[in-house]
Amino acid sequence: MNWNQNKVIAHRGAYKKNNFPENSIASLKEAIRLKCYGSEFDVHLTKDNFIVVNHDDDFLGMPIASSTYGELRQEMLHNGEHLPTLENYLNEGMKQDHTKLILEIKVGQSLLATLTLTEAVLEMVKKLKAGPWIEYISFSYEALLRILQHDPMAKTAFLAEINDELPVETLKKDRIQQADYDFNIYETGDWFNRAHQLGMTINAWTVNDKKDMLALIENKIDFITTNEPELLLDLLRIDKK
Ligand code: MG
Repeated sequence: MNWNQNKVIAHRGAYKKNNFPENSIASLKEAIRLKCYGSEFDVHLTKDNFIVVNHDDDFLGMPIASSTYGELRQEMLHNGEHLPTLENYLNEGMKQDHTKLILEIKVGQSLLATLTLTEAVLEMVKKLKAGPWIEYISFSYEALLRILQHDPMAKTAFLAEINDELPVETLKKDRIQQADYDFNIYETGDWFNRAHQLGMTINAWTVNDKKDMLALIENKIDFITTNEPELLLDLLRIDKK
C-alpha cells in the first residue's frame, strides 16, 4: 500500500472537469489518475439488497429502496455506464493502492434502514477484503458506531452540517478519528489544534473556491473534499514550492 500523500478528496469522484457522471466508475478512475488521496462516493440499498453507488435516494426518478437492481439497470448513466454496484466499484478501486475509497453510508428512511445498509456494506467489504482501501463517512453517528463494533480498526469520520457538529472530544471518546464538517463550521472555534492534540484529523466539504481552499490550507486542514480536485492539487503544488 502506497497511499498518495495529499489533502485532496474528489467529491463523488473527479467528475466535473470532464463531465463524467457523479459517482461513476469513470469519475473514480479519473480521481485515481489525478493521484488524489481519496475518491468519495455514496451508497444505498435496493429492494433486493444490492448496494449501489449513487448520491440521491432515487436513480433517474426511480426510488432505489423500492426498486430492484434489475429495474435500475435498465437506465444508464450519461456516459453509457450502468449504475455501479458497490461490488463493481470496489473491484475497480482495488486495482490500485494509491487512492483511498471514501465510502459514505447514506442515511435511510429509518435508523433500521441505515443500519441494514451498514451491515450489508461491512459484509461486502469483508467478502472482497477491501478494508485497507476504505474510509467510512456518514451523517449517521449510529452507522459509524456500528462499523467500529464490527471493525475496531476501521477509519471513520462523522459528517455534519452547521448546528449538527459534535466536539472532537466526543468523537475521540467514541473512537471516530475524523471530523468531516461543512467548511463554514471551522470559522469559529479552535478545531484544528484541538483535533491535532487528540491525534485526530479534520476534513472540510465541499470546498470549490480557491480562496476558501487557501484559507483552510493555511489553517493546517488535513483533508478537503472538493468538486475541483484539479484546482486543489495545483494549489497544493504551489504551496509546496
Ligand atoms: Mg457524499
